[in-house]
Amino acid sequence: MKNILCLALCCLTTWAWSQTDSRIYDIIDAVSAERIEKDITTLAGFGTRHTLSDTISNTRGIGAARRWIKSEFETISQDCNQCLDVFYQKDLVEKGTNNRIVKDVMVVNVVAIQKGTKYPNRYIIMSGDIDSRISDPNNFTDDAPGANDNASGMAGTLEATRVLSKYQFDNSIIYVGLSGEEQGLFGGKGLAAHAKEEGWEIIGILNNDMIGNITGVDGVVSNRDFRIFSEPVPPTETEKERKARRFYGGEVDGISRQLARYVHKTTKTYMPEMNPTLIYRLDRFGRGGHHRPFNDAGFAGIRIMESHENYTQQHQDIRMENGIAYGDVLEHVNFEYAKKLTAVNAINLASIAWAPPTPQEVGIGGIVEPSARFSWKAVEGAVGYKIYWRDTTSPTWDYSRNVGNVTEFTLDGIVIDNYFFGVSAIGKDGHESLVKFPNHIIR
Ligand SMILES: [Zn+2]
Repeated sequence: MKNILCLALCCLTTWAWSQTDSRIYDIIDAVSAERIEKDITTLAGFGTRHTLSDTISNTRGIGAARRWIKSEFETISQDCNQCLDVFYQKDLVEKGTNNRIVKDVMVVNVVAIQKGTKYPNRYIIMSGDIDSRISDPNNFTDDAPGANDNASGMAGTLEATRVLSKYQFDNSIIYVGLSGEEQGLFGGKGLAAHAKEEGWEIIGILNNDMIGNITGVDGVVSNRDFRIFSEPVPPTETEKERKARRFYGGEVDGISRQLARYVHKTTKTYMPEMNPTLIYRLDRFGRGGHHRPFNDAGFAGIRIMESHENYTQQHQDIRMENGIAYGDVLEHVNFEYAKKLTAVNAINLASIAWAPPTPQEVGIGGIVEPSARFSWKAVEGAVGYKIYWRDTTSPTWDYSRNVGNVTEFTLDGIVIDNYFFGVSAIGKDGHESLVKFPNHIIR
């Protein structure tokens, strides 16, 4: 009898790992296109949200916009028994810092933190941008509605806050509106520096920049495609780490790339109708986004955005020219699509915030041996571990094995030379940490 019971329970545990969490589907269903439309409309209605624009008016300019965002976060917090810590994080950027800072300006981010119950100092971040611009990057007075760039990302962040504030998580979540993006990524730089000063352990940032356009300048229309940009390895890696990569691999396995793969996998699992593309680069060719300053600080960070951009509708003066309606106006935003990408963010924030920490010390061995061997340091809160591997040419972790609650394992008959490997930690509800690429050799 005892054996049968054990067998049943053991099976159940293994079974539970491979199942989905129904709360994740509830989160997808709770995201509202109507609320996102309302918020994008409000943000575009501030006329301009240029970083250097008016801060006194209550109806126009970036001051009005950030006060409104803060009050939205506070309203959400009231509805969840004060579950959010809402504040401004700001830095003075002096005139002449670059040619887009034509006067001294306080770059102000609006931050809302939902504290985790188990690992309060570990943070996963979702960001959008507050600021906007038109053709002349230094024109801070004319209308710059920035409906897609980037009221869409900001509204998505507010909506994810509303939905996720109904739950409690093990890790902390930061929802943030960043400013100063168009003037030189100043808001992200400020918050990344603040995180370092505070000693926050940043799991990563999901930076949303333009999540509302489905009609590409290339003629493609799709409300299912989106892109996940990630750099291959951190810019902060040491010369020793760079040299080690020649012999042990890891050219396309940095921490941001693992975060990108995680988002890709969660989306494929829970929203299989969506079409995420992993883009193997930091950002669009020669262009920037607010995940970069986090990468610069050594944190994992990715950019989530539409696949089919329309360049006549970003950074443009509002005008008609040769029959083309230029300008980043409300009419060009697809709110149902912004809702889908908001859901992509929300389910990934939830999965990561419910998961145990990523294993930190993962060793790999198997040189001139028939099997690959692994060992790792136990993770607090993990009920088991999963070894992932893939062909060296594959972008995704295609093979995996649950190996139970152990700290070493041998994959029999899997030759180390022919694959890349990684290890994740699994929590009690089946949520998984990011995958850790091995960082030392075991003999
Ligand atoms: Zn922009």
